[in-house]
Amino acid sequence: MSKKQKKTLGRIVAAGVLFVAIIAVLAFVSVPGWGELALYLVPYFVIGGDILWKALRNIVHGQVFDENFLMALATVGAIVIGEYPEAVFVMLFYQVGEFFQSWAVGKSRASIAALMDIRPDSANVERDGEVTEVDPDEVAVGETIVIRPGERVPIDGVVLEGNSSLNTAALTGEALPRDVEPGGDVISGCVNLTGLLRVRTTKEFGESTVAKILDLVENSTAKKARKEQFITRFAKWYTPAVVIGAAALAVIPSLFDGAWSKWVYQALTFLVISCPCALVISVPLSFFGGIGAESRIGVLVKGSNYLEALAKAETIVFDKTGTLTRGVFNVTAIHPEKYTEAQLLETAALAESWSSHPIARSLRDAYNHDVDDSRVGNVAEIAGRGVKADVDGVTVYVGNEKLMADCGVDWHPCHKVGTTVHVAVEGEYLGHIVISDEVKPDAAEAIRALKTAGVKRTVMLTGDAPAVGEAVGKELGLDEVHAGLLPADKVDQVEKLLEKKSPGGILCFVGDGINDAPVLSRSDVGIAMGELGSDAAIEAADVVLMDDKPSKLAQAIAVARRTVAIANQNIVFALGVKAIILLMGVMGRANMWLGVFADVGVSVIAILNATRAMKTY
Ligand code: ADP
Ligand code: MG
Repeated sequence: MSKKQKKTLGRIVAAGVLFVAIIAVLAFVSVPGWGELALYLVPYFVIGGDILWKALRNIVHGQVFDENFLMALATVGAIVIGEYPEAVFVMLFYQVGEFFQSWAVGKSRASIAALMDIRPDSANVERDGEVTEVDPDEVAVGETIVIRPGERVPIDGVVLEGNSSLNTAALTGEALPRDVEPGGDVISGCVNLTGLLRVRTTKEFGESTVAKILDLVENSTAKKARKEQFITRFAKWYTPAVVIGAAALAVIPSLFDGAWSKWVYQALTFLVISCPCALVISVPLSFFGGIGAESRIGVLVKGSNYLEALAKAETIVFDKTGTLTRGVFNVTAIHPEKYTEAQLLETAALAESWSSHPIARSLRDAYNHDVDDSRVGNVAEIAGRGVKADVDGVTVYVGNEKLMADCGVDWHPCHKVGTTVHVAVEGEYLGHIVISDEVKPDAAEAIRALKTAGVKRTVMLTGDAPAVGEAVGKELGLDEVHAGLLPADKVDQVEKLLEKKSPGGILCFVGDGINDAPVLSRSDVGIAMGELGSDAAIEAADVVLMDDKPSKLAQAIAVARRTVAIANQNIVFALGVKAIILLMGVMGRANMWLGVFADVGVSVIAILNATRAMKTY
């Protein structure tokens, strides 16, 4: 509990005790009216002083209509018409509700803060043979850092020396540790479990995974869900409307029957009942909790609006390479037409030496020799087709049939199933390399889970050859497969799918950002793979799957749906109870006691309900 909360609790107890004592005393001793007023004013100011003060201050600042104003007006009015105990009780209970709210918000902050715990405090950097502890901000790219067992990885990098396993739970929600060895990547935020690691940094701290995640989560509440915006707008109109309604209720019937004090009392009751606290706090709190729950399963959602959209996912479009498949190709055949097999592979690997495409990475791995940079120049990546580069002074083309057609080379198809990578030099075909990718172990399960969750259409878009695309589509049980697409064709396909969906339905695109960044931003919700994905994709995406597992998607949708359901329950419940009691108030069946009791009761229940959104399964 914070200091402020403790103080509020103290005031609630003090005022409560005083209040009960006064009621007890007055039951036995008779006191003149002014004495009674003086007695009740003590607990009234103890508990309500700050609210009166806030109301006054807001009026001076021109922000008249808020909850403080409603409460101040209602209780001062009650005192004026001589209903002292009511005034104290309303303030007391209102504060109980406020206290409860601040406790709930604090609790959800704390759970996000637990996630924020991934921020590393320091880095051990090796300079001139000595290890010094510095702020992670001060470490440059390319420096060597030492990470001892039990320490958090401060900066993204590549392992130079040491074997260990990393706990990635804070980033991915995955309990299973991951093994790393020399040459492997480590990402900041993971905890080094077993061995000492020497790591060469590949990014600055500000660009490292951990800094990016913190940034995302901290800013995620800035993008409001439509429901939240509705509540804010609602409160803005609602409160003045209530005050006008109350004024009308006090004056109009009194003009007919002259029972002023009765109608003024009804009007004040009406004010108390209509306080919108429950709604104003519980809806944003639900979304806040939902984003927290998502991040704990390794899904970063960049705003409440995207959480709301995820809940309505109807069409899900996947990229193939790196998204549904591992993006790690094995070379299954090398068919040279000139050259030897080794020479063909070498030429291809050299030409691919600067590309970050999964195919390029795999060819380099298969070649498995250090590349002499001076042999390669003039590299150009041709999206959806391949690469072109000067190798040993001649221009080499490595890519698919489209690329071969572009450079006017007669290529030969391959009988082997797999992605065929053709290699050519100016005007001459050198042969092809067949590589094949594996589907991710959880991909089929992911598609099944989405169908079970009621997603209407699952689609795969790929730039790969139709035969490969169809095979993957069949294996995974996708509804539609479109293959042989260039990045621009992917956008066209998504546009078509956007037209086909039902009104209010949401189209999500899941990709790794390599050749699909334009679709990521064109779709309703762009979802990127956090690990394999390019930085640009993580930037452009609305949702990031930290551990690249497509199966997290169905879980993320479930959390989103639950969050939206909780927010809806709160809206319906709070408005429903309010409406009933307001109606009772207008008919003269409710008093202030019931009004404030209902308000606080509804707030407490709604807040408790909202905190459910924070839970993970
Ligand atoms: P996907 O849609 O499956 O992610 P891409 O759009 O990234 O595929 O690539 C489409 C096709 O273009 C690949 O299947 C490959 O034939 C060719 N291609 C793209 N980049 C390269 C590259 N760097 N080297 C070789 N071929 C490439
Ligand atoms: Mg791709």
